Amino acid sequence: MKKIAIIGSTGSIGTQSLDVIRQHSDLFEARVLTANNNADLLISQAREFKPDAVVIANESKYDYVSEALSDLPIKVYAGSQALCDVVEMPSVDVVIAALVGFAGLPSTISAIKAGKTIALANKETLVVAGELVTGLAWKNKAPILPVDSEHSAIFQSLTGEGKNKIEKILLTASGGPFRNLGQEELAHVTSEQALKHPNWSMGAKITIDSATMMNKGFEMIEAKWLFGVSPDKIEVVVHPESIIHSAVQFEDGSVKAQLGVPDMRLPIQYALSYPDRLHLEASRLNLFDIGALHFEHPDFERFRPLKLAYNAAHKGGNMPCILNAANEVANLAFREGRISFPKLSEVLEITMQTATFSATPTLDTYYDTDVEARRIAEEFCQ
Ligand code: NAD
Ligand code: MG
Repeated sequence: MKKIAIIGSTGSIGTQSLDVIRQHSDLFEARVLTANNNADLLISQAREFKPDAVVIANESKYDYVSEALSDLPIKVYAGSQALCDVVEMPSVDVVIAALVGFAGLPSTISAIKAGKTIALANKETLVVAGELVTGLAWKNKAPILPVDSEHSAIFQSLTGEGKNKIEKILLTASGGPFRNLGQEELAHVTSEQALKHPNWSMGAKITIDSATMMNKGFEMIEAKWLFGVSPDKIEVVVHPESIIHSAVQFEDGSVKAQLGVPDMRLPIQYALSYPDRLHLEASRLNLFDIGALHFEHPDFERFRPLKLAYNAAHKGGNMPCILNAANEVANLAFREGRISFPKLSEVLEITMQTATFSATPTLDTYYDTDVEARRIAEEFCQ
């Protein structure tokens, strides 16, 4: 039995993780569930999965959750420190890091320090502090298994390759809902349009990041840290059908890819079952129905955040942390209709130019940088 903590169990990745656990209740059990605000969903998940503990990050909802679960032997905690405490529990083997944003960093670090296996969906953790987090994972022998579909595809393509060198990573991108719009049209797109992703159903923040291609920029940085490949060897390939989830090119020119229908339960399950594969009750890829697959170069001008991610990765230090913080602010401002699509990129760029740069950041630097860059970005969103 693998004993699992899902940090962010009420989100898109969290609920799909529970679906995988439900399908394999003979192999996996949920021991910890957590939510930020959605107390009702957390309560119903707890009643179904009977974990040892739940955390509601919003402390004002503690009494409500505690009351609702009082007839069950489930410990109820509240507050963000509790997220760091529950991942260390001896009854947990695997931590699914499914929180969104910088908020996922502290609990992921705690889980790594406790030597847990990390199934990582929270890519912002590696964007912000990739060097520190991967270093800690080595030191504490805490494997980090990717949940992000592209990184799972790369990981699956690398399985069995031993020390064979990667020549290039082909990181595929759907291109999002605005792939075919010109600069003029992009100036007028709304968050409602951005929230309609053509292929994937995901949380709001990552859906907006997909529309701006910030998500692909973050995934490039995530791939750099997970697979030790420099950014100039990670090529973004726009592939609107989202069937090839990413690929690896080796020294002999061979390219290995992983294909499938877009369904996050597959990479989630692989992170939990690795190195085995398990049956997954889900639809199957039918190449005859799809007919043709298409590929394009990304447009770094229309989708400036992707370019900014390469710039941040080359600059190194705390620059990706600055970019992430600015993006969390600008993403929300766009979602709330406070800034336009082009303005979002401007906010990122100006924050990168203004926030204090550190070439050798520590964990404390990242916390300070996050606060400073958010403040700057907020000012530019006015
Ligand atoms: P989501 O918004 O649907 O869910 C986020 C979860 O985190 C919720 O359970 C929420 O309660 C919790 N949470 C949010 N902020 C919190 C805070 N400050 N404190 C405590 N809990 C908090 O997000 P999602 O789409 O599931 O994405 C989660 C992560 O997975 C993100 O980093 C995203 O980039 C990554 N990811 C998601 C998908 C996807 O298909 N949804 C695919 C690849 C990667
Ligand atoms: Mg992805």
